[in-house]
Amino acid sequence: MIELTKYEVWFVTGSQHLYGEHTLKQVDRDSEAIADGLNHSGNIPIKIVFKPVVTTPDAITKICREANNSPECIGLILWMHTFSPAKMWIAGLNVLLKPFLHLHTQFNSEIPWNTIDMDFMNLNQSAHGDREFGYICTRLGKRRKVVVGHWRDETVQSKIAIWSRAAAAWTDAQGAKFARLGDNMRSVAVTEGDKVDAESRLGYSVNGHGVGDLVRLVDQVSDSEVEKLIGDYENRYDVAANARKGGDKYQNLRDGARIELGLRAFLNDGGFKGFTDTFEDLYGLKQLPGISVQRLMADGYGFGAEGDWKTAALVRAMKVMSAGLDGGTSFMEDYTYHLNSRSQVLGAHMLEICESIAEGKPKLEIHPLSIGGREDPPRLVFNVAPGPAIACTMVDMGNRFRLIVNAVDVIPPKKPLPKLPVARAVWIPKPDLETAAASWIYAGGAHHTGFSKALTSEYMEDFAEIAGIEFLLIDDTTRVSEFKKELRWNEMYYSS
Ligand code: MN
Repeated sequence: MIELTKYEVWFVTGSQHLYGEHTLKQVDRDSEAIADGLNHSGNIPIKIVFKPVVTTPDAITKICREANNSPECIGLILWMHTFSPAKMWIAGLNVLLKPFLHLHTQFNSEIPWNTIDMDFMNLNQSAHGDREFGYICTRLGKRRKVVVGHWRDETVQSKIAIWSRAAAAWTDAQGAKFARLGDNMRSVAVTEGDKVDAESRLGYSVNGHGVGDLVRLVDQVSDSEVEKLIGDYENRYDVAANARKGGDKYQNLRDGARIELGLRAFLNDGGFKGFTDTFEDLYGLKQLPGISVQRLMADGYGFGAEGDWKTAALVRAMKVMSAGLDGGTSFMEDYTYHLNSRSQVLGAHMLEICESIAEGKPKLEIHPLSIGGREDPPRLVFNVAPGPAIACTMVDMGNRFRLIVNAVDVIPPKKPLPKLPVARAVWIPKPDLETAAASWIYAGGAHHTGFSKALTSEYMEDFAEIAGIEFLLIDDTTRVSEFKKELRWNEMYYSS
């Protein structure tokens, strides 16, 4: 469902006429070689498209307008091989609507000590040409990512890859549609938000749909489709005895499969990239959707429970950023704690954790759900393998959106949890639960998160920079007293 290969990043090099045709041809050849090198590195998932060197204000403005109008172009990499007087860039940067990365690199990696002459110096001036360009970007208040180092360096390529994935997620959000089935859980504050502001600032629309529209599609699903899907379940999961044919919960499995097929049809027909539901509005549905949501997330849909559309859109963006990477990304909730000298979070939800973060083959089980007053729903039950992860939340502060990211370490559960009938992850937040949770709570972070083992905080920081939203990081370096100051300063910054 998520295809990054359709996108392009344009590689645009700046220079000026002063150097003469011979030098400018060399600049073109070098830039093309860098674009080729990045494409063949195997480290960047999005095609880098070389564009001929620009040397005049008109050429710069023209390429910026072309980028705006190209549906494939998700952003630009800008580099000054030579000096490029930056007033030439004012008009272009002021019309540019696509994200850009300023690559502060040099064609050669090392100084040729024995042969260096003034011709070489004239050709390889990014050390000062890029500073002139940086000045105008800062003077104009342009958001961008600055990446420094040689273009063959894997760290540099990795930073470009991360930014290009963030730019893809941004592009994916523009015009994206999210379906809100029912409203949010009554009286809950953090799942509310300004949907007009979201569409204006973040590009995606959220609209409500009656559960009856979904029920109609669920009722249209044929028995043979249900049986085929149950065959898929049996191949992929370790199905509990009572959910198998002849078991006393087999009908619940059939009903769950029917809901999945109906939901898929609903999302597909409407062109939605994600959705929310709520256990308080299930009229006509036999169950709260469980396994269906888990599997739809695995296919790339964003999801937020209890009407949480901001998290649904965040999970979708994280799905785009992590497409093709090892790990996995899910909706998540901080559920309960293990408080001791090495305090831990047990993360889970009533049902809806994505199977992309499962360790091993999930179990398919059917148990009662104590909330919502419906029939027992099938769900996938699994643990999450140890390793680094991030938990992310998007909140509406009234005058802006705030993205908070906590770097965490997933650890194995201390014991097997035989009576817990939901997927779960156990983690230790960085720098420790006490500091992380205090900072998160001071920042107003939600209980719902987008949780990823595939992404790092750098992806989210790049996404926030492109989106122009507030970004707060809680990691190894966080101290509560400093974090509180950052919150106060940001309040001033965003109030002005
Ligand atoms: Mn919840």
